[in-house]
Amino acid sequence: MDSKTLYAKAQTLMPGGVNSPLRACRYVNAEPVFIDRAKGARMWDVEGREYIDYVLSWGPMILGHQDPAVSEAAHRAVDHGSSFGAPCYGEIALAEEISKLIPSMEMMRMVSSGTEATMSALRLARGYTGRSKLIKFIGNYHGHNDAFLAAAGSAAATVPGTPGVPEEIVRHTLLAQYNDLDAVRAHFEASGDEIACVIVEPMAGNMGLVLPVDGFLQGLRDLCTEYGALLIFDEVITGFRLAPGGAQERFGITPDLTTLGKIIGGGFPVGCYGGSREIMGHMAPVGGVFQAGTLSGNPVAMAAGLATLKRLQECDYAALEARSLALARELTAIMESKGQSVYLATMASAFTMYFSDRPVTNMIESGKSDSGAYAAYWQQMLAQGIYLAPAGFECAFTSFAHTDEDFEKTLEAARKVRF
Ligand SMILES: *Cc1c(COP(=O)(O)O)cnc(C)c1O
Repeated sequence: MDSKTLYAKAQTLMPGGVNSPLRACRYVNAEPVFIDRAKGARMWDVEGREYIDYVLSWGPMILGHQDPAVSEAAHRAVDHGSSFGAPCYGEIALAEEISKLIPSMEMMRMVSSGTEATMSALRLARGYTGRSKLIKFIGNYHGHNDAFLAAAGSAAATVPGTPGVPEEIVRHTLLAQYNDLDAVRAHFEASGDEIACVIVEPMAGNMGLVLPVDGFLQGLRDLCTEYGALLIFDEVITGFRLAPGGAQERFGITPDLTTLGKIIGGGFPVGCYGGSREIMGHMAPVGGVFQAGTLSGNPVAMAAGLATLKRLQECDYAALEARSLALARELTAIMESKGQSVYLATMASAFTMYFSDRPVTNMIESGKSDSGAYAAYWQQMLAQGIYLAPAGFECAFTSFAHTDEDFEKTLEAARKVRF
């Protein structure tokens, strides 16, 4: 069956035909293609068309699809049984590896998604401090837990970002624009003894890629320490992408709690949160903060995650960063030669090319980029076999499996785009 037929059928069974909204491709005025298989940096749809993949399952597949070591580890684990609901060796092996790479995570808890990781970290921060409020940044995404689904008419007024979230819940969510340290300081000065935590994407990746300005993360660290609040780095994207030790290694700032997901599962559903022994000691069954999971520490996911982290330590991050930067710069030059204004934001193996004539440091500026131009670019790239995120406010990701030939084909396709 072709994608069109499958999409029609899917829409009778799932809202919008999808299990996660962005996949429906509405932001780019298109319909999704249905993927049949993927290997390395390539994917093939149900009609056999080949794509070079810059979505990489929204981040996890940093080694490319079907990395042989990861696939082998997962197959071996399946042969031992796919779930026990009891402790297993794989959990220790993965936790030990994570702790070695991210030393601030002395202890951790495995869960099954990034959403679960941030939701649980928030509960722990509240349980640990005995406070209810949190500060989050507009345009940062921390999964779909109620407390994080708040948008603002202004930075002062907190309103639910979606029907179904009670106002009483997001009342505890204080908002600030990304990179606005003064707004964070004002929240602390107004209600410092009620704030349990600040949660932040240390490099924002869900409003397009937005870098923290100099002093922003250090400022958050200092304010949290001063007011006794916990600093949570949501490293679900940045973990093992910005560096083997994540954003905290790259920027040299140590949070109190870290949340992980995406890459640590090697393509399987895994999330994780952790921090010091002292703070993690407040989790049940040692402490009073409750959190549990039937499939937590799943042996297949643990094996795939461990194999991924081991492989990544043999990978040359600096080389991939240099190649990604060259690709992104050349794409930008091509778009500019067609009369488009482009602002390029990039770090490590991620970049966003904003169709905008001004720098992007927060959600307001990200929102001003030209979504029509992105849709035109996206549709014509897809038609030429280049698979990009179906929304302009996402990152393009590269993997260790992308070859120079993949990048050259991508540039060739970009040269043919018309606006
Ligand atoms: C993807 C993402 C999440 C949510 O992870 P899921 O596995 O989709 O629940 C949380 N935080 C950040 C920064 C993310 O990019």
